[in-house]
Amino acid sequence: MKSLKAQNHYLSQTNYQLSELNKATVVSFCDKIFETGLNEIKPNSIDILQINLGKMCNQVCKHCHVDAGPDRKEIMTKEIMIKCLEVVSKNSFKTVDLTGGAPEMNPNFRWFVEELSKYKLNIIVRCNLTIIVANKKYNDLPLFFKKNGVEVVSSLPHFSSARTNSQRGNSVFEKSIKALKMLNDVGYGKEGSGLVLNLVYNPTGAILPSNQEMMEKQYKKELIQKFNIVFNHLFMITNMPISRFLDFLLKMGYLKEYMERLIESFNPLSVDSLMCRDMVSVSWDGYLFDCDFNQMLDMKVKSKSNHINSYNSNQLKSRKIQIDNHCYGCTSGSGSSCGGQIV
Ligand code: SF4
Ligand code: SF4
Repeated sequence: MKSLKAQNHYLSQTNYQLSELNKATVVSFCDKIFETGLNEIKPNSIDILQINLGKMCNQVCKHCHVDAGPDRKEIMTKEIMIKCLEVVSKNSFKTVDLTGGAPEMNPNFRWFVEELSKYKLNIIVRCNLTIIVANKKYNDLPLFFKKNGVEVVSSLPHFSSARTNSQRGNSVFEKSIKALKMLNDVGYGKEGSGLVLNLVYNPTGAILPSNQEMMEKQYKKELIQKFNIVFNHLFMITNMPISRFLDFLLKMGYLKEYMERLIESFNPLSVDSLMCRDMVSVSWDGYLFDCDFNQMLDMKVKSKSNHINSYNSNQLKSRKIQIDNHCYGCTSGSGSSCGGQIV
């Protein structure tokens, strides 16, 4: 776990970032929502339980909203995982979505996935690809995923080496291609295999994503022609103005311009399908949040049931979702969520 000094530094850094974000936002997100005729945002259902297994990661990407990296020690314990399994057994989630950091680096990851696979659920693992080739002990992950019927969602910010590496680090693209081939070799992304491999695109720099369908076609063409790689779908995700990406915007002096872009392209049609309306997100230490982004801002759910130990579906379904100016990242253009564009 981070030392108290490091935690305090992180919190004061986050507070500073958020005050800058608020200064750069000319119309608050709450006012914008009010203009659409809503006083508040409430859940539609709770179909997805997203679980963050820890902030430890083998990469240190520039756009990471988790501020993850090899130096992060926050990791979900087996006790919290057991509590999550209890909640899964008593509720009817359609999907459990495992994320991190690199969730595979949690020492109890495989046990947890095997336990989850005993339920009738879609299990998603947000795999950063390079972990598969980072160390021999991870080389069999494609087979492990296949055995447990896991859906793999992986970030590949671009089909060019230069653009991916500029966001995610030196030689990440080359390692990702190697890992994608290993996933393809066991059947992932191949028609008729039933093994789903989805990729995630996010823009490089302070721009908004373009058309998902067109970009998917382009990715498919480039990856098959150059590397003989196949995948199912491409999810386009807007870079959220929080954490490392907000830091980048502040350092480059792009924050005001970026927020203006997000606000100008606010799409009221996206509000009904925001991912927070169908999910609850669990942090490594068991607290509950409306989404992974609120988790990183330490904005816990507004409910008495704010920890996995006190999970109460009825209380959570009647909660008011915690929104703030970072939420513009989910409502611009075609909207954005962990599953790509939403409108
Ligand atoms: S974006 Fe993903 S792979 Fe990159 S540092 Fe963050 S958690 Fe790790
Ligand atoms: S960041 Fe997005 S998903 Fe999270 S609460 Fe805001 S609108 Fe909902």
